[in-house]
Amino acid sequence: MYAGTTTGRGWLSAEEVQALILGPRAATAQAGAERSVALNMDVAATASARIPIPDDVKLFIWRRDGGRCVRCGSQADLEFDHIIPLAMGGSNSARNLQILCATCNRAKGASLV
Ligand SMILES: [Zn+2]
Repeated sequence: MYAGTTTGRGWLSAEEVQALILGPRAATAQAGAERSVALNMDVAATASARIPIPDDVKLFIWRRDGGRCVRCGSQADLEFDHIIPLAMGGSNSARNLQILCATCNRAKGASLV
């Protein structure tokens, strides 16, 4: 049997393998467990995004970057930008932060999508 023809993805998920081995009842229980794990991950991601950047880190970045956008040098609408987004495993450390103006921050966000 070629798995790709049944799933369209070319591979079977854990719950689909369970369904093949144990039948549909077991697969339902397994899917429920995976849903709760996914919910917990969502909570964790949201919580880390809410951790504020410490004031001393902000001050360090402000001085390092000269109080202006590191891309275009603007001094208006400045924001602290996570070089690696928190959602992708970035941290609130100075090495992962830079000053961007709102315009450059939006442009960066668009390019990541
Ligand atoms: Zn800018």
